[in-house]
Order: sequence, then C-alpha cells, then structure tokens
Amino acid sequence: MMDEVIKDFDREKKEMKLIDENGKRIDGRSAEELRPVKMKVGVLNRADGSAYIEWGKNKVVAAVYGPREAQPRHIQNPLKGIVQARYNMVSFSVTDRKRPGPDRRSIEISKIISEALEAAVITESFPRTTIDVSMEVLQADAGTRCAGLTAASLALADAGVPMKDLVVACAAGKVDGQVVLDLLKEEDNYGQADLPVAIMPKSEEVVLLQMDGHLTQEEFDRALSMAIEGCKKLYEMQKEALKMSVGGE
Ligand code: UDP
Repeated sequence: MMDEVIKDFDREKKEMKLIDENGKRIDGRSAEELRPVKMKVGVLNRADGSAYIEWGKNKVVAAVYGPREAQPRHIQNPLKGIVQARYNMVSFSVTDRKRPGPDRRSIEISKIISEALEAAVITESFPRTTIDVSMEVLQADAGTRCAGLTAASLALADAGVPMKDLVVACAAGKVDGQVVLDLLKEEDNYGQADLPVAIMPKSEEVVLLQMDGHLTQEEFDRALSMAIEGCKKLYEMQKEALKMSVGGE
C-alpha cells in the first residue's frame, strides 16, 4: 500500500510541469534569469575574511583563515601555499535533517572548490602556508556549491589574499527539455541536467565544470555560454559587495 502511494507521488512529481506555456518557470523566472542574489562582505569579526550570500533560498556564509603555516608539516609545499576549502551543510539546511559531518558529497564539493580557488590565488607568494576556507550552508535550495564558491572568493578578497581574479560560479541545466539558467531545487530534482560552472571572469578561464544528467552537444554549448553569462552578472555584484565593504554603508 505504502509503496503504491510512494510510486503515485513519484509519478506526480515526474509529470509536474516545471515550465508553463508562457515559458515561465515555477518561481516566475524566464529561462535565462538568475534568482535574486544578495552578497555581503566582512560579516564575521574573528575570521581574516568573510562573506555571506543569499541566492534564491540558498543562504551560505564563507570564512577565510590564513595564510598561516600549514600543519602537519608534511602537507606543506616549499614552493607554494595550499588552499583547503571545507564545504558543510548544517543539519537544518535541508528538508530532511542532514546527518552532521562530512559525507561523500561534501568531500567532493570541498575538493573541487579547493581546486577552483587555488587556480585564482597567487599561491607562489606564500610557500609552506595554508589558506583555510570554510563554507557553511545554512539553507539549501540547489546551487549551493556555486553559492559557496562565489562567497568563498569574496571572503578571500576580504582577507586581502592576492588573486589573479575573483572566482564566480553559476549553473545552467535542462528542465522540461529546455536549457535554463540557475536551477532551483525542484528543477534540480526533476530536471534532466545540471551544469555548474565557475570562471575567472577577466580571462574567462573555466576553473570548475561538472555535469549531472544528459545534454546533447548543442545543449551543452548553450548551457555553458548561459552559465558564463550568469557568472558575469554575479561578478558585477561581487565587485559591488567589495566596494560596499570598503566604503561602508
Ligand atoms: N540536498 C538535500 N540533501 C542532501 C544534499 C542535497 O536536500 O543531503 C538538496 C539541497 O537543496 C541541494 C540540492 O539538493 O542544494 C542539490 O544538491 P546538489 O548535490 O546538486 O548540489 P548543489 O546544487 O547544491 O550544488
């Protein structure tokens, strides 16, 4: 009996229309529109740098500590510094309580975010050190790795860490057969593909690219350029947030 109820529920969800006849998505956005985003830099007193981002229903805080001597010593690189990012979702950030502590997903996300940030930081300037970046997802609604990474790069800038450029991330994907920008939770769950992308906007160098689901070559190209356009809009907001932190409010 219960199994049947669950199956019916799944069927209903699968058949749920995510884009209506006017091309509007469930939150009223068009295909190429971002969710509303707010960023604030310098939100924590005891970190060397910090930032907070609200992106749709996502809420993420990022904090930076360092550069400081890497411990234990065997992780030190005598030629350059290392960036160690830690992405964490708090228990109450999702609908079903999340078990505290690292899991496969958060370890993977921490690794790719570390690599994306390391591409931007001029690590050769501080050998043997580590820069620790902590991201806490307080509320999640799909796109948290992009929100975390975007906030983390602001926190690095706030800490005065020398970088080639800010890193900014945004996803595109496929929903109801259409390529769309910045998927929210239902679109991520019941859509056909999700493509998170991070770039350094000045050079357009891609520092993170993942794909979940299936896209044709043509759809992939469209999703990638849509995500990059999204990143460029977010980059302007990042620069505004940094200016506000310097000028004060
Ligand atoms: N999610 C969840 N529980 C989990 C992991 C994820 O409810 O343990 C939700 C959460 O809203 C997250 C979304 O699923 O934002 C999409 O997760 P995904 O792994 O695609 O990462 P994200 O899009 O957040 O970077």
